[in-house]
Amino acid sequence: MNFELTSEQRQLQEAAIRLSSKALYPLLAEHPRDTPLSKPVMLQIFQILAEFGLTGARVPEALGGSGLSMLDYGLALEQLPPVIALALIAHDGTTSRLCASGAAEVFPDLIADLLAGRKIACTASTEPTTGSDPRSIKLRVRESADGNTAYLTGTKQWITNGTIADVAFVTGKREGDGELQRYLVEYDVSPFVATEIPCIGLQQGHLSELVFDDVAVPRRNAIGNDNSTMKTLTQAWLVNRPLFGLLSLRVAERAKEFALDYVRERSQFGAKLASKQLIQEALVDIEASIQSARLLCYSALDAADRGQATQALSAMAKRQGVATAERTASIAIRLCGAMGLATETGIEQHARDIKMFSIPDGTYEILTLIAGRDITGHNAL
Ligand SMILES: Cc1cc2nc3c(=O)[nH]c(=O)nc-3n(C[C@H](O)[C@H](O)[C@H](O)COP(=O)(O)OP(=O)(O)OC[C@H]3O[C@@H](n4cnc5c(N)ncnc54)[C@H](O)[C@@H]3O)c2cc1C
Repeated sequence: MNFELTSEQRQLQEAAIRLSSKALYPLLAEHPRDTPLSKPVMLQIFQILAEFGLTGARVPEALGGSGLSMLDYGLALEQLPPVIALALIAHDGTTSRLCASGAAEVFPDLIADLLAGRKIACTASTEPTTGSDPRSIKLRVRESADGNTAYLTGTKQWITNGTIADVAFVTGKREGDGELQRYLVEYDVSPFVATEIPCIGLQQGHLSELVFDDVAVPRRNAIGNDNSTMKTLTQAWLVNRPLFGLLSLRVAERAKEFALDYVRERSQFGAKLASKQLIQEALVDIEASIQSARLLCYSALDAADRGQATQALSAMAKRQGVATAERTASIAIRLCGAMGLATETGIEQHARDIKMFSIPDGTYEILTLIAGRDITGHNAL
């Protein structure tokens, strides 16, 4: 066992840090921090990410992707601005699902555009009455008598990239046999209505409602339900969870760094706060928790690379990462006193951003029940 990064991994991490500090954070700073970025700005960002090889991180090199290991992907992703990292996970996750289901042969131009960051993708599963339980999907799929067209009717909610997406990977339920069916819906061929849902965190991003009112989708856009598609869907969950854990921890670290600077400067009772024992205990506590949660996330990604990922490990990685991050942000705010509540410091924004990562791909309760199922052999879901 070796806990050192390889020299290639260090270079990748440093390159991601440079990309963020020189290109991505300055670009975000040019726009209001509480308003979703425009599509042209998002395309600019995706093209920067494409040059770095991140838009197709999970797509094999043979299909034009960069085929990164999931651990390397996590090392790079955690250095990106969190709002961009979330958009990227949705885009790259969708692109890799499409590629795994053979879409690269049917839609080579579309896949090339997605990999080059010229088009943006989203995955739409959640609905107003379908959240943690994906089996309750209601979006209706009605097939024409000749089978050449499917008509989609229903609403999808909380869809990352929804309002800026050129293509949506949509799951619906077929009329008749009630089977789940996935479609690659191209916005310019099969337009749907997309609106933004304002949220408390990651406010430059896009969390959207998509309404399908008898939207006609050509037959060739149906995505197979074969084993390899299902395997890729499962693989995406196994990887996304530790990725969300890492992103939460990175945001928490920024809150912690602010608090650390603050207690080093601020004096009360005749001495710097940093010299007080209770303050040091709080800082040691969160530092140890961050480091252990991050190792758990790395270990879940490494297990995925070795084909040994388990639902329990990946669920625990996200659960631990998000819980640690939420606690860290809360303590960091506390250590700054009233200043921790001032919006000008940006520290409260970190707490709101972490909350956004706590929900997708498994809430705290759902992750607990997934891990609990593996540990006890009893399914409490
Ligand atoms: C930032 C963000 C990005 C997202 N991106 C996407 C996306 O790109 N595509 C997409 O399809 N969806 C996306 N989602 C939606 C997300 O997947 C769902 O919000 C999530 O699955 C939870 O569903 P819900 O919000 O309906 O909560 P519900 O399932 O209604 O749960 C509500 C509460 O009940 C708890 N609960 C549920 N079941 C149980 C149980 N059996 N036992 C105990 N407690 C339970 C939950 O933990 C939660 O606390 C995103 C959400 C967010 C916040």
